Amino acid sequence: LLSVRHLRKSYGDHEVLKDVSFDVKRGQVLVLLGPSGSGKSTLIRCLNGLETIQGGEIWFKGQKIANNSEKTWRKLRAEIGMVFQSYDLFPNLTVAKNIELGPTKVQKRPKAEVAKQMDQLLADVQLTEYKNSYPRELSGGQKQRIAVVRALAMNPELMLFDEVTASLDPEMVREVLELMLRLAKRHMTMIVVTHEMEFARRVADTVMFLENGVILERQPGDEFFTNPKTDRARNFLESMA
Ligand code: ATP
Ligand code: MG
Repeated sequence: LLSVRHLRKSYGDHEVLKDVSFDVKRGQVLVLLGPSGSGKSTLIRCLNGLETIQGGEIWFKGQKIANNSEKTWRKLRAEIGMVFQSYDLFPNLTVAKNIELGPTKVQKRPKAEVAKQMDQLLADVQLTEYKNSYPRELSGGQKQRIAVVRALAMNPELMLFDEVTASLDPEMVREVLELMLRLAKRHMTMIVVTHEMEFARRVADTVMFLENGVILERQPGDEFFTNPKTDRARNFLESMA
């Protein structure tokens, strides 16, 4: 589904991603781990067209997608959903309007069909009663679940998650992680950046360990967690335990 080849990304003369290559197959969950500043968020942003890249190629469904026009990306962003740490819901729109906006305005799908799908998605995350609420009336965990629902309403083929629970109170973390686990069970293709190691272990088909913009390890999740190949990864896991 996704293929990254020799990706290079710099800010000025600071090279943040150095020759990064990997693939994600349909239905696969890739967990991206690494110390702060290793380039995880930058990589996710590159995959969602939020950064221009200085080298290499990103292929999605057989199409080269890096360094495309905004117009192309508006279409692609329907297929590549993204949720990150800060809740990016529109504060002046209700939950329902937040969810409907992309599917009706960008994808131009019929309102009735979108409304039906929205009702299902809201029921699924048990937030139906907040349909006409504004984001400020929701807790952090509720906002993040709505942010996930909003991305899902576009029927994406790939979901990118960048530390979606990092700014949540501990008691709200679980409900968001459980939603992501459910998506994984339903074979949603996902790339997940997280500091929640128990969750990472449960959800990962593959773990990719990044340091200083270089992939140090890439292996099946259970192998990575039980037997990391590099000292760097072992130290990282110990520091997270
Ligand atoms: P964290 O775990 O703290 O979120 P990360 O792995 O997501 O870290 P990135 O945010 O990708 O790290 O940052 C990687 C490097 O790129 C850092 O050295 C950072 O200072 C630099 N960087 C990120 N964004 C920019 C920017 N907009 N301009 C300049 N440098 C940036
Ligand atoms: Mg980050």
